[in-house]
Amino acid sequence: MTEFDPTRRALMAGAAATGAATATGTAFAQNNQSNGDSAQPTRQVAEFPKPPYPEQEQPWPGLAQEMTPRPDHGEESYQGNGRLRGKRALITGGDSGIGRAAAIAFAKEGADVAIAYLPEEEPDAQDVKRVVEEQGRTFAAFPGDLRDESYTKGLPERVVEELGSLDILVNNAAYQQWVPGLEELSDEQFDQTMKTNLYAMFWLTKAALPHLNPGASIINTSSTVAATAPEILIDYSMTKSAILSFTDAMAKQLASRGIRVNAVTPGPIWTPLQIAGGQKMENVVHFGANTPVGRAGQPVELAPLYVALADPAFSYSTGQVFGATGGSPQPAS
Ligand code: NAD
Ligand code: MG
Repeated sequence: MTEFDPTRRALMAGAAATGAATATGTAFAQNNQSNGDSAQPTRQVAEFPKPPYPEQEQPWPGLAQEMTPRPDHGEESYQGNGRLRGKRALITGGDSGIGRAAAIAFAKEGADVAIAYLPEEEPDAQDVKRVVEEQGRTFAAFPGDLRDESYTKGLPERVVEELGSLDILVNNAAYQQWVPGLEELSDEQFDQTMKTNLYAMFWLTKAALPHLNPGASIINTSSTVAATAPEILIDYSMTKSAILSFTDAMAKQLASRGIRVNAVTPGPIWTPLQIAGGQKMENVVHFGANTPVGRAGQPVELAPLYVALADPAFSYSTGQVFGATGGSPQPAS
């Protein structure tokens, strides 16, 4: 059983919910308006779309703006409280999915935001730029390929040049393609997964260190697959475990410098990663159905976690692993 495999229970729940995705899609559109009261969420949990989701496939890396239902990254539904005022953040894969939810929430909390993404994701990046700038924050875009060592190593300095400093680094970009078995896992795919998920994190963190001051925060996106590796995600799961070890070691190394390093382990979240080769189609349709919550999470549901980890007030938490799993087991810290 993999974390995303539909179980009999999940399939039955999915069958009962047929048509719910479309219906709830309309519900969000009607409820996404801010009511101006920060104590009241603009969106009720019950409104988040449930499986079955419509079958869909996009060529990698995929675009959030072409997904059905459209993922909720907090464009309307996240409300900030100035927790990151004056901070500057760099988020890899900040164009879509979890990285975009972090980018939007950081801006709404008062931070200036730089994102790294692939050039073909420019349409999604433009959507992020619009929301960040609507908050009156500065936005910096760095399209490029994180497998390119000189591009990646140059990012922190470019962020400091454009934004003035670097206080929050979110190592979030990833490559995930499912394969039926080890025989189908090519050297090219293995290399791409390792370069994107591990080398880039290593290069970027090392290049960022000279710019990070006490109070800075590094947040690494791992996954629940680090606890139980799905048989169709061999290379990807290897990297998600390694990210936890990197987090652990770096937290110990940087504690005396006042820099915190933590990891987030999302469960199944509704993002382009999954519909662009990350999952089998049957898993996409029933995505998240086998979690206790019974649905895929929306990117915005992770935003409060990334904000908390970025917030210097969370000063005693480093080397920790924080879950957003819909109730499924997650790796221990
Ligand atoms: P996503 O597709 O929205 O984000 C991944 C991003 O990685 C892309 O937007 C892209 O910009 C970036 N990327 C990939 N290869 C790149 C390269 N060579 N150069 C530059 N950028 C590159 O999907 P997401 O689900 O939001 O993924 C964000 C993180 O969340 C990843 O680390 C992923 O492993 C993790 N995660 C996701 C899920 C899930 O169910 N969606 C579950 C657990 C963990
Ligand atoms: Mg993307």
